[in-house]
This record gives sequence, structure tokens and C-alpha cells, in this order.
Amino acid sequence: MNFNEFNFHPDIAKGVRIAGFSEPSPIQEMAIPIIENGKDMVGQAHTGTGKTAAFGLPILDKIAKGSCERALIITPTRELATQVSDELYHLGRFAGIRTLTVYGGVGYGRQIALIHKGVQIVVATPGRLKDLYKKGKIDTFNPEIVVLDEADEMLDMGFLDDIKEIFEYIPQNRQTLLFSATMPEPIKDLAENILYHPEFVSVVNEAETVNNIIEQRYYVIEENQRDEAIVKLLETEDTEKCIIFCRMKREVDRLSEHLQALGFSAKGLHGDMEQDERDAVIKAYRRGEVKIMIATDVAARGLDVKGVSHVFNYHIPFDPQSYVHRIGRTGRAGKSGQAITLVSTEEFKELQRIRKEVGAEMKLATIENSYALQHDDYEAIMTKINSINITQDAKIFTESYILNDKDLILEKLLSYYLTRESGAFGGTIGFDETEVQDLMASYNNEQTVINKQNRRKKRR
Ligand code: AMP
Repeated sequence: MNFNEFNFHPDIAKGVRIAGFSEPSPIQEMAIPIIENGKDMVGQAHTGTGKTAAFGLPILDKIAKGSCERALIITPTRELATQVSDELYHLGRFAGIRTLTVYGGVGYGRQIALIHKGVQIVVATPGRLKDLYKKGKIDTFNPEIVVLDEADEMLDMGFLDDIKEIFEYIPQNRQTLLFSATMPEPIKDLAENILYHPEFVSVVNEAETVNNIIEQRYYVIEENQRDEAIVKLLETEDTEKCIIFCRMKREVDRLSEHLQALGFSAKGLHGDMEQDERDAVIKAYRRGEVKIMIATDVAARGLDVKGVSHVFNYHIPFDPQSYVHRIGRTGRAGKSGQAITLVSTEEFKELQRIRKEVGAEMKLATIENSYALQHDDYEAIMTKINSINITQDAKIFTESYILNDKDLILEKLLSYYLTRESGAFGGTIGFDETEVQDLMASYNNEQTVINKQNRRKKRR
């Protein structure tokens, strides 16, 4: 299918062309005609499917053609609000469509003034939007189309009551669209209450994303090898920009300090940081001034940054959905990406659960540790040394290495000897295939025993 078939207003069609979208993604193909027809809709889709443009393009088109004056989009986080706003700006800029992002943590004055000045699209987070409605500051903004984006995230973040309250202020004669990656009961109930005879569209299949080329690897390590493993991976992988996901805020702080101390261009991102600080980190990361972002799940939710070559799971996430969400930060917009997960032997069972539930194809891998890397260098240097006359040609050897990184080579040579002296040998970080098979076998045995016990319990 071609975007021309939607008959968008020429200014919107130009926005699509300049954005470089060649053909609609599955959610766009299904949702755009429904939304253009004025029907309510539930779209089950996660980020990476092109869902923002799926609701954004028909809204922009209607505004450009004059059949809609105002639209409201509600998103769970400020980061997502900014992202949606940016995408709408880029797609709608040739039609001169004005979009405003409304969120908490900043003064009310400017936001209210801009709403009154006559913006056509407001993208808002629930807390601030509710406040504005309650204070009667947004009465003049009567949206004809309302989008609830990432509804399940709003539920997880405790915004459900705010959402229900917001809808009490919004006029009934509206078109309502609800997007959610999953459909838990409270979201189904919400959909029943705020939507009118909605159409359902679902793209939950990985293959239906605009970006599905993610190579997934995992390393089974000892708990105390995490830092060493991550550093080695950062040193040896060909990374462009990467995100390292941690479970806890303090882990984010500690790891970012550690990596900064080692000279990596790294910054942390988590919910306890001031909003200004969070914005600055994301901005620097988007621009490529910071190469490594260390983040918690919540902080990086829905983040769409171009050129993320690697996602590292420093710790395995708590649930399968988070895994899918995390790895979706890479391999975007048709580029391939690497998703690398570190699991301890204790976490190995959780990994099996995630693999099974999300049907993830993950390959086991091992990392060469310092000794192995040093050993490679040593081998190369020794070959060179053996092929020359050491006493006479020592100078030539040194000079030839000046062109490569002399300091590094000497340092590695030295540390190799020191390592050898201390007897700290060992070729790789991480369990190899046989060890993981043993682990798997013990896990399966355990499962069989548990299953048998459960069957016995049932019989009784
Ligand atoms: P989303 O699922 O809305 O977060 O979109 C994911 C990414 O895909 C964004 O960077 C979009 O700009 C991009 N995108 C959306 N639609 C298309 C399309 N039809 N072709 C190529 N890229 C797209």
C-alpha cells in the first residue's frame, strides 16, 4: 500500500514524504481509514509500530482540511508527550499546525496563554491536564478528537482515576481513540465507558513493527561480574548510542558514576532526577553528545531516539512486557539493533520465563575477559617479536607500534605479565554452552518435580 491512497491534504502528504515514510505500517494501514471516517477506535499496539503517525496523520489531515479544529492527546509521561508533539510537528509543519505540550513541573502561565492563543493540538500528561480542567483554565479548548496513548502504562502509573476525571470535563460529542500495548480488564472497562461503538485494531505481532531487526543475546554470569561484563561489552561491541537498563535508581547512579570514571560518555536517567536534568540528559543523548544512557524502565518508557545500536539489560527486567519494551528502543526505523542481557544463575529461570512468554529468540554468548584480550594482544606482539631480531630491532618494533596505540600496547603487555604473575587466569566471562545446558537441565528437573508435586496435590 502507498500513502497516496489516503488522499491526505497536500501539506500533510509533503510532511510524510519529508519524514521518509515510504509505505504505511500495518497499524497505519488499518487505523487511518477508521479515524478518517470519524469512528471511535481501540488500537492494540506498542511503540515501534508507527502508532503515533497512525493517529497523528488522520488528525493532522482533518485539521489541514478544516474538518476538525482541535485535538487532545493524553500520554503517560512528559518524555512521551514531547516525543508525540515532535512527531506531529514534523508531519504537520507544512500545514502550519500548532501543537502545544502540557505537563507538570513547570509554571502554568505560558501553557495557559498558548492554549488561549489558539493551538490546534494539545499533547498533555494526565496530572497537569486534570489540574487545568479543575481550575477552569482550559475550558475554551474543546477537542473534537481525543487520543489516550499508552493507556496500560497510565494504569500502571496510577493515572486511571485522573483519566476518568478528565473525561468528565471533555465534551461528549467527540471522537475518541484509545491505544494500549496490552488490554488488562481496567483498560477494557475504561474503553467501554469513554468510547462509542469502537472499532478494534490490533498489531501485537513483532513482525508488524516498523522496526523488527533486533538480534538478541544473553550472557550467564556470576553476580559479581556485571560491571566487568558491561565494560568489556562496551569496549568490544561496535556501539553507536546505547541504553543500559537497570532495575533500580541507585543502581543507575552507581553504574553511571562507574562508567564516567572509566572515561565513557555516560549519563543516568531516572524518576528521582529533577525534570530539567532529565530533559537535559535526553536532549544530549538525542544529539549524540552522550553515547550511553543508563536508565530505569519508567524513565525510558516510550523513548524514541534514532541511532540506538545497543540495548543492554544490566539486570533482567521484572516482567516480559518490560523486556519487549526495553529492546524496542533499538532496531528502530528499519535499522538493525543488538539487545544484550546479563543474567546471573539465580535469574536464569526468569530469563526462561521471558523467552517463553514473548517467544524471544535469544542466543547464548560469552565475553572474552581481560586475560583473553590481553592474551590476544600478547600473541600478536610475540609473533612480531619472534619474527624480528629483538636486540637489533627493538627500536623498529617500538616504532611500528607507535602508529598503533603504543601506550595501550605497552600497558597491556605489562598487565599481561602482572596477571600471569598473580596467576589470575581464565578465558571468558560467562557460562559456556555446556554449563548453561547443565543449568537448564537442573531447572527442567526442578520443574518436573514441581509439576509432579502439583499433580499429587490436585489428586488429593
Ligand atoms: P511509534 O510506534 O509511533 O513510536 O513509531 C516508531 C518510529 O517509526 C518513529 O520514529 C516513527 O517516526 C517511525 N515511523 C512511523 N511510521 C513509519 C512508516 N510508515 N515508515 C517508516 N517509519 C515510520
